[in-house]
Amino acid sequence: MTKIYEKAPAKINLLLDVLRKREDGYHEVEMVMTMVDLADRLEMEELPGDRIVLSSQAGFIPLDEKNLAFQAARLMKERYGVSRGVYIHLDKRIPVAAGLAGGSSDAAAALRGLNRLWKLGLPQSEIEALGAELGSDVPFCIRGGTAFARGRGEVLESIPSPPQCWVVLAKPPINVSTADVYGKLRANELTSHPKAGEMLSAIRRGSFQDVCKALGNVLETVTLERYPEVRQIKDCMIKLGADGVLMSGSGPTVFGILSKETKVARIYNGLRGFCKEVYVARMLT
Ligand code: ATP
Repeated sequence: MTKIYEKAPAKINLLLDVLRKREDGYHEVEMVMTMVDLADRLEMEELPGDRIVLSSQAGFIPLDEKNLAFQAARLMKERYGVSRGVYIHLDKRIPVAAGLAGGSSDAAAALRGLNRLWKLGLPQSEIEALGAELGSDVPFCIRGGTAFARGRGEVLESIPSPPQCWVVLAKPPINVSTADVYGKLRANELTSHPKAGEMLSAIRRGSFQDVCKALGNVLETVTLERYPEVRQIKDCMIKLGADGVLMSGSGPTVFGILSKETKVARIYNGLRGFCKEVYVARMLT
């Protein structure tokens, strides 16, 4: 039986700005997003009967309709009248509820994979539109690469990749709800904003140093305040010599970017002294 494999890489935000809260309750954002090679793996194959069965070695994620990969399969079946069954195995490696869009990336990989398994022949633009129905990070996860996102995060412009570098990610043992962080953000009272224009120009010029300088995330004002363990990781990465350090998404994962491999072990070991979940990855270019 045909098996389809897809990788679902983690996303990091090099920049996350909230411009304002809109009348419809959503936040108007500007984000620069890219991917790292820390990735979940999805295996998909036909199953007799008209059903979706999900399995995973990770004990702490839902395997029913609450799982975004399940929702992706269901949406595709409904929209294109597919009455075939599918078995999806999710090898989970991206930490959950970490600000790395693991669930969104799984949904994106499921949409890409099922398009192939069911030979639907959908163009990328249509898969992206389908993904937008599942979550505002999903279209970016389908497209991959590096993008400047606006609106709710679903209006995407692909941009060149930043210079290749190492990424050390550390997640403290706390769960942070994205909705909660946005709920606590006083979006219309922010006095300082990261500068998306400076990040875009640093990337276009291929200047690693200027990318480091332009890193910024307004959600740090909420998460760093409430969770001292996130600030502790950030301070530690800076002290250990990471070239640039930022919290990804709503947190709690903090990442450090490094141009030189020689610094990686020092930062990894320094963090592992007090934090269990530390990962080393490359930026995907
Ligand atoms: P984002 O940055 O987009 O907010 P995140 O990285 O913070 O995402 P996820 O790992 O996507 O968070 O998980 C958020 C919640 O979604 C979890 O509490 C989990 O129960 C649920 N979830 C649904 N599908 C998945 C999936 N495939 N993998 C992980 N979590 C999932």
